[in-house]
Amino acid sequence: MPQFEKTARVEENCVACGNCVKSCPLSAITVYKGLYALVDENKCVGCGKCKNACPAGVIELYPKGGVL
Ligand code: SF4
Ligand code: SF4
Repeated sequence: MPQFEKTARVEENCVACGNCVKSCPLSAITVYKGLYALVDENKCVGCGKCKNACPAGVIELYPKGGVL
C-alpha cells in the first residue's frame, strides 16, 4: 500500500447531517445509528469530497494505516 494513500476520519462534534454520506462517490461513509459518521477505511480513497461537504468541519484526511 503506497505511503501517500489517505483516508478520511471523522473528528468529534459530527452533527450527523449526512452530507458526507451523499458526497462520497464510493459509499465509504455511513451515519452510525443516526449519531455520527463513520468512514470505512477499506473503501475510502482519500479524495476529500466528504471533507469539503461537511458543514461542521469535522472531517480530516490522514495517511492510511497511520496512528493519530
Ligand atoms: S475521502 Fe472521498 S472516498 Fe473517502 S470517505 Fe471521503 S468522499 Fe468518500
Ligand atoms: S458532513 Fe460532517 S457533520 Fe455531517 S454527518 Fe458528515 S461528518 Fe458529520
